[in-house]
Amino acid sequence: MKLLLRFNSEIIKKPIIAEAVLETGVKLEIERARVEGPQGEIVVNVPDDSCREVVNVLKRKKVEVTRLDVPITKDEENCIHCGACVSACPVGAIRYEYDWRVRMDEKLCVQCGNCVNACPVRVIKLPEY
Ligand code: SF4
Ligand code: SF4
Repeated sequence: MKLLLRFNSEIIKKPIIAEAVLETGVKLEIERARVEGPQGEIVVNVPDDSCREVVNVLKRKKVEVTRLDVPITKDEENCIHCGACVSACPVGAIRYEYDWRVRMDEKLCVQCGNCVNACPVRVIKLPEY
């Protein structure tokens, strides 16, 4: 299973991936990593049957874990179609349709989380593990 791991400034310098491998004995395949200022993100592949164990260890170490095999969701009933998420999306996965309603194309989404933070009524959710 592919997981997106987010590290905040409190934990970014800690060797958390190495610790998780040592504690679980599970090999984590790092697909990509990005560090921006005091925060960082890593995408890892974890064997399905070991995923729960690895996620428990990571969460205990305050890593934010998102599943990348489950699409992001928007609560259509409670969306007020303000458009704040449209400009926040770096890949154009959210746009206004001809009826001035905001729609999301989950296939284009790279699960960056920008729209989640931009939404004033918090109706967009990333699939947490
Ligand atoms: S999570 Fe990122 S890529 Fe996905 S729709 Fe939101 S802003 Fe766009
Ligand atoms: S920011 Fe939230 S309320 Fe505004 S259009 Fe996007 S999902 Fe809807």
